[in-house]
Amino acid sequence: MPADPDFLSHLNPSQRRSVEHFCGPLLVVAGAGSGKTRALTFRIANLVLTHRVAPENILAVTFTNKAAKEMKERIERLFAERLALEDGGKALDLLSPYEQTKLRSRVYKTITKHLWIGTFHSLCARILRLDIEKFKDGQGRQWQRNFSIFDESDVQGLMKDIIVKQLNLDDRKFQPRSVRFAISNAKNQGLGPEDYEASQPNYRGRVIANVYNLYQDALAANNALDFDDLIRILVDLLRQNDAILDYWHRQFHHLLVDEYQDTNRTQYELIQMLATNGVHPQQFQGWNYRSVFVVGDADQSIYSFRAADFTILMDFQKDFGDGLPDDDTRTMVKLEDNYRSTETILQTANELIENNTERIDKILKPTRGAGEPITCFRADDELHEAEFVVEQIRNLEMQHPEITWGDFAILYRTNAQSRAFEDMLVRWNIPYTVVGGLKFYDRREIKDVLSYLRLVMNPADSVSLQRIINVPRRGIGKTTLDRLSSAAQELGVPLWEIIRDDTSVKTLAGRSAKSILNFAQMIQHWHTAHETQAGAEIIQGILEQSGYVDSLKAQGTEEADDRLRNVQELYNASIQFAEENGDPSLTAFLASTALASDLDNLEESSTVSLMTLHSAKGLEFPIVFLVGLEQGLFPNFRSLDDAAALEEERRLCYVGITRAQDQLFISHARERRLYGSREPAMPSLFLSELPKEQLEARSPLAIPKRPPNMAAPSPPVSPHPNTHAQDWGVGDRLLHKGFGLGEVTHVFGAGNKICLAVKFAGVGQKILDPKVTRLDRV
Ligand code: ATP
Ligand code: MG
Repeated sequence: MPADPDFLSHLNPSQRRSVEHFCGPLLVVAGAGSGKTRALTFRIANLVLTHRVAPENILAVTFTNKAAKEMKERIERLFAERLALEDGGKALDLLSPYEQTKLRSRVYKTITKHLWIGTFHSLCARILRLDIEKFKDGQGRQWQRNFSIFDESDVQGLMKDIIVKQLNLDDRKFQPRSVRFAISNAKNQGLGPEDYEASQPNYRGRVIANVYNLYQDALAANNALDFDDLIRILVDLLRQNDAILDYWHRQFHHLLVDEYQDTNRTQYELIQMLATNGVHPQQFQGWNYRSVFVVGDADQSIYSFRAADFTILMDFQKDFGDGLPDDDTRTMVKLEDNYRSTETILQTANELIENNTERIDKILKPTRGAGEPITCFRADDELHEAEFVVEQIRNLEMQHPEITWGDFAILYRTNAQSRAFEDMLVRWNIPYTVVGGLKFYDRREIKDVLSYLRLVMNPADSVSLQRIINVPRRGIGKTTLDRLSSAAQELGVPLWEIIRDDTSVKTLAGRSAKSILNFAQMIQHWHTAHETQAGAEIIQGILEQSGYVDSLKAQGTEEADDRLRNVQELYNASIQFAEENGDPSLTAFLASTALASDLDNLEESSTVSLMTLHSAKGLEFPIVFLVGLEQGLFPNFRSLDDAAALEEERRLCYVGITRAQDQLFISHARERRLYGSREPAMPSLFLSELPKEQLEARSPLAIPKRPPNMAAPSPPVSPHPNTHAQDWGVGDRLLHKGFGLGEVTHVFGAGNKICLAVKFAGVGQKILDPKVTRLDRV
């Protein structure tokens, strides 16, 4: 079937060339707003429509989940339009709403559902759910396919435990956050603990490598992965196992990556491995596997602090081009027309970025008129700045009926800057959304319910278990929980193994044994059910049976009502997810919540958007306020004496300016209260680099508190006055009335406070207190 002429006519000749490219590597490089993402989306549609590539053979990587969703919707629409014409000779918009829905659902079932479109993280999680059980890391650690995905707060908790409790280190010298950062960076560069230690041959390096090892142990013990592992472990698995690599080679015939300039080494290796046919050099069904299509802009590389490396983009042709010269047009397309911004905005962005030395010059021509001049405002302080911004928003919205709140974005360098704007927006009753504020999935009640669900799916997840075993209150105290956890730790088993065993619980938990056992029974019930029942049913069941909803209802406060609504919303989300993805399982829903990012909160609804410049990548807004252009804030103080870091800040500024379609406002303050103290502020270096003739001046132009030492007090144990200690040791054999012959595998505590782990033939391991239970030595 010939290509749909309508469908490709929405592209310029260079875009069209990239979209029609069928096989082999292709790099699309171009400045902001030149239609790179659009070209990538259309190419997917073209592969299926024109070349009849099966949707499941296409793998496309986007930068956010939201972008993935938009891309799927866009593709769905393109197909629905095509089908409407083919089937009934009518344009899609002329069909009745019912017919349109029917058509789209048909497209969904036959096409979009089968496409592999998502972020690196979500795609890797999907593959690992199928194959992770065949993986073993260098230390012999293994995971099951029902693994949990730990979020940042879970990870920080583990780090702190390891540093403070396990290693007894000073958490001021080894701050969990900075250790975590070092480990994450190591992972993103593909370094294991040993490689890390080799790269940092000093005391600190050795300690961090040790924490890294223990951290991996803890993850494996919880059957959990962190975000970085999702990619790294898949890379290692593919490296280890030729058969699996072969399988995915055959699966993915076409790879596409958006925002390629922010790819890190591990992600690059994944692409490289999937795109290169290391196993089967022969061609497959007439085309080779090296169909890899990437789009990016080195001037927008802003994630080097997360180990992104834009030389990966620069080296694309060398890496994938089969020896073709770097400027060979068979492997590279440049887009030079900007469709997003006015000429004024574009020229300003171009002039700014030319101050960077580490870049390749490129052309970016406007397709739109000059537009409004850029307004530059100097405020007295941050409150004055917020006043100015909100006043502009109000005026523009009032004066132009076509402008809605959703057309505005306020972009800043650090999250802390949002508060002043929020206060002012609230005062004027203007609806707004803070992207990257407290995420829905980070709220306490949502984390509680998700912990229940994670535990139901993966009972080895001790982090989740500890979070909710006494939520709502079941009379299970911290001391009891500590005893149970340390027993589990000493035996090297998940906490779940202890709490589901009648005898062990009775031995260790005293009065709360009954509630623990009831709790364990409930989890076991839903664990079994989750294999066959829908996620929504499990959520409803567990919310009722656990007493979580009842306890919120009983509180009767406004806050509790709010929490109830959020919990209800989570239930709704699970139903919606099942409908949209055709997969009602708990596992699939949980994976989607774990990977939801801040940007997914950005509703289509009409609210002013507030976000950091980092979050704004790839987005566009008619009216943009770029605020806080002050030395030390933007550019950030860390970059002031580091040339490379300063260039990255400048790229961030370039990203900010190029988000604007019609109008741009830039502001700075003479004085600013940030992190507590009020300081005079100098205008940003970047302001002096902007072309004067485009600017219109509107007015004369921490130390975080240390957390308290968390070293846990040793749990008080009250000795039983009427018991006599008996000296038990590992290897002792004994006889129990009910369980029969057993052997001591572990002794906890000392003196007359001991408990024993005993392995019995047939019934397995039990924890027993020799003071309470009669045990006869044999
Ligand atoms: P960024 O570098 O910021 O990610 P980009 O290169 O991915 O930008 P897109 O977001 O794809 O650019 O496109 C920018 C805007 O231009 C979008 O609104 C898009 O719809 C529009 N656009 C792209 N190509 C064309 C075209 N050929 N004709 C009309 N509009 C276009
Ligand atoms: Mg884009």
